Amino acid sequence: MTQNGGSAFSKILQSFELFPRKHVNDINEFIIKIQTILRRRLLTLLEQQHGIKAYFVIDMEYDNPKEPERTFHAFLNTRNLVLRSPAELDHFIEQLKIEVLTRNERFIRDKSGLVIHSILKATANVQEYNPLEGSSYLPLPKFLANKHAIVNVNNTDNRCFVYAILAALHPQAQNGNRSYLYEQYFEPDHLANLHYRISPNDIPAIEEQLNIHHNNSIALNVFTFFDDNGKLRAPLYVSPHQNREKIIDLLYWKTARHTHYAWIRNFSSFMHDLTKQRGTTSWCRRCLGHFGRESTLQNHQQFCRGDNLLEPIVTMPQPKYHDRRGNPIPPQLEFKNIKYQMKCPFVFVADCEAFYKENE
Ligand SMILES: [Zn+2]
Repeated sequence: MTQNGGSAFSKILQSFELFPRKHVNDINEFIIKIQTILRRRLLTLLEQQHGIKAYFVIDMEYDNPKEPERTFHAFLNTRNLVLRSPAELDHFIEQLKIEVLTRNERFIRDKSGLVIHSILKATANVQEYNPLEGSSYLPLPKFLANKHAIVNVNNTDNRCFVYAILAALHPQAQNGNRSYLYEQYFEPDHLANLHYRISPNDIPAIEEQLNIHHNNSIALNVFTFFDDNGKLRAPLYVSPHQNREKIIDLLYWKTARHTHYAWIRNFSSFMHDLTKQRGTTSWCRRCLGHFGRESTLQNHQQFCRGDNLLEPIVTMPQPKYHDRRGNPIPPQLEFKNIKYQMKCPFVFVADCEAFYKENE
């Protein structure tokens, strides 16, 4: 559970009041007294929603020792707290307690000398929480689904990223899109805590974290598409470690309200419509150049810097011959084909996009 990020659509679901029943002047005690009913109400609401957020108004009475005959009344407002699953409920209650303690401290600091006389009630204002980047299941566009190259795990929670990783780490011979097949691997693969929506910007850090438990054997790449049917494909993140043992290619895409990750099981099939070559093709993940042989790809990858086509590629020739003492003789450039010489000794070549003429 986290504080609300703000980029969410929401509508008011419910407001309800929680009373401590007995006189309470301690915040910890107040939370303990209201939490059973609060938990029940939140769980009921969570059954109908993917997520909820709530802010609380706490009705307080304070005493001022300097004015013993008066009682001060105040309403403390908490921030919005987000709850996305029953597993986050303990944390939600803890955050609520911290919020109320903080608001109370601020209030008595401003009005020095006040002490809590009584905590009367809490009003909960619950809204639907639908984050824009929801990370729930999305079906593949037909064009991509027909390739049978992508494992799109049918998750019902917001952990699609982890399911995509687990699908790659534990490939299934059949029914690889069923989420229950991967439940057993969350803990052993140290991915149990990685269940929130994950932005492509988080991928480098996650790749590093993943490799702590996998001996630097994983390279993570993320691709996306920009059209409705999945034809306009492009890389979003390409690992700098393409020579690692296990390359995991993920597909990331979004609709107006959700984002989703799936595992690209067969990259060659995923891209195949863009080449005229038959059979398996070796693809450079950086520039999406493709090669008939793996060795040609490896040669290319030494120089490929992705889309920076302006970077010069220079390969210096290695010495072929040695002198009598065994020292290498530096390679020499010779011009043998005299017949190709040009009559004109100097040639000036210029490439101009435009000429600017000074304005008179
Ligand atoms: Zn390349």
